[in-house]
Amino acid sequence: MLGLMQEQPLLISDLIEHAARHHGEVEIVSRRVEGDIHRSNYRQAALRSRQLAQALDALGLEPGERVASLAWNGYRHFELYFGVSGSGRVLHTINPRLLPQQIAWIVNHAQDQVLCFDLTFWPIVQAIAAQCPSVRLWVALCDEAALAKLPGVEQVPNLQNYEEWIGGHPSSYQWPRFDERSASSLCYTSGTTGNPKGVLYSHQSTILHAYASALPDVMCLSARDSVLPVVPMFHVNAWGIPYSACAVGCKLVLPGPALDGQSVYQLLAAEGVTFAAGVPTVWQMLLTHMAQHDLKLPQMQRTVIGGSACPPAMIRAFRERYGIEVLHAWGMTELSPLGTLCTLKNQHLSLPEEEQMQIRLKQGRAIFGIDMKVVDANGQELPWDGRSAGELLVKGPWVVRDYFRAEGPAPLLDGWFPTGDVATLDADGFMQITDRSKDVIKSGGEWIGSIDVENIAMAHPAVLMAACVGVPHPKWDERPIVVVVRKPGQELTREDLLDFYAGKIAKWQIPDDVLFVDAIPLGATGKMQKMKLREQLQGYRLPGL
Ligand code: AMP
Repeated sequence: MLGLMQEQPLLISDLIEHAARHHGEVEIVSRRVEGDIHRSNYRQAALRSRQLAQALDALGLEPGERVASLAWNGYRHFELYFGVSGSGRVLHTINPRLLPQQIAWIVNHAQDQVLCFDLTFWPIVQAIAAQCPSVRLWVALCDEAALAKLPGVEQVPNLQNYEEWIGGHPSSYQWPRFDERSASSLCYTSGTTGNPKGVLYSHQSTILHAYASALPDVMCLSARDSVLPVVPMFHVNAWGIPYSACAVGCKLVLPGPALDGQSVYQLLAAEGVTFAAGVPTVWQMLLTHMAQHDLKLPQMQRTVIGGSACPPAMIRAFRERYGIEVLHAWGMTELSPLGTLCTLKNQHLSLPEEEQMQIRLKQGRAIFGIDMKVVDANGQELPWDGRSAGELLVKGPWVVRDYFRAEGPAPLLDGWFPTGDVATLDADGFMQITDRSKDVIKSGGEWIGSIDVENIAMAHPAVLMAACVGVPHPKWDERPIVVVVRKPGQELTREDLLDFYAGKIAKWQIPDDVLFVDAIPLGATGKMQKMKLREQLQGYRLPGL
């Protein structure tokens, strides 16, 4: 027997219409490429998304065809999220930090029909336009005057400015109703090996993720929040924040191209931001800036940090110096992206601060909708004892089933997606990542998790960034070394740091060497690139070998 409730597909267009109707005057504040601060609101965003949908109809774009973006977090990019997906097309957000030839490969693989770009990325467009025959229209996210100032516009045929493109269309629009399983957006993983792989989200997966991510034990978003996603809208849809923001009606603050500590601080302070989200490397810049200038953020309450392991020193700094709660989160492009988030349970509230901290360091508990387990090399499930480490497998309605136009076999094992992360699960369901499976250091038959080694280094006051990698050893197979960037003006010797490890981890887990460098290579989403680091270390020999 079927239930007798209304059958309405879960569609992204409903998010923007809800926000416009119920939170129409709530602000969307953007720092623009032009350098100024732009103020809009949900009502305006809905009007302009409808104009954009009309422009796509006029172009004759079929349902499911791809519209790409190469853009920072800003109001025009926000409009693309709704105008493109809401009208039945697929928004393909491209990471502009990739190399032009990688971007051209992705555009061709996705067969993008339209590509919208911020002016910053004009050199990329110039470099790839001739190699991307599928693109019928190039749209500069600006007005006529700004486009006229670009050098070499005549080299790219079919180029238009966004304001003129959507401006001629009416702001009324009947959003189409269709199957909620239809594709809505596309994001390629920044895979370190092989070609990038496209994760194709649906309206259903996106809306379920938006509901789940606003829950109190997840991001706890509400109409009283002012939210700043530092995480880019080209990195897994800014962790879904544009969608959940529409559902709850919070103020949105979009930082544009300026992601340095000072610029982010200015926006956080000026716009009364209560909640922000980003990867650890960005927050490190903010913390350094705040410490140098003795600044505070009295309105900010909490921040979600994920994308790579959040060092304990960062959780402590936010909490103890600034009274800001850090919510450690784990996710992947393949999970839309949220899988777990770390919030305490009732039983933990009476624990001493230090014991609570040990829990906060974990990546957290599964969000309802996500199921998880850890398995050994034979695929056998391991106990939830907080010690047994194995590969983390997940499943759920916002987890990938297959990649877009995949060449290889589907990734699932018995319906579970293998994450490539090595993790433990404890009796309370808290998951902790110890490593990426390819980064684990195997020393004398034992595993050393590089994240532990890095976290200790990061707790040293003179360390800005630390990466632990394994290097070959004739007796032990591999031994860990730690590569360190010192904070500006700080003294730190190899011996100081090795002494700092004493008593914090087992002796055999302590790195064999410390290398000081000016910078650790970062990938397109701000994560440390250990592959590149290992390449740079080729020829390095451990002391005494
Ligand atoms: P991406 O798809 O580029 O977002 O990368 C996903 C990968 O980032 C995961 O498989 C993890 O290896 C890593 N990751 C994400 N969040 C965390 C976290 N909180 N701690 C450790 N690693 C993380």
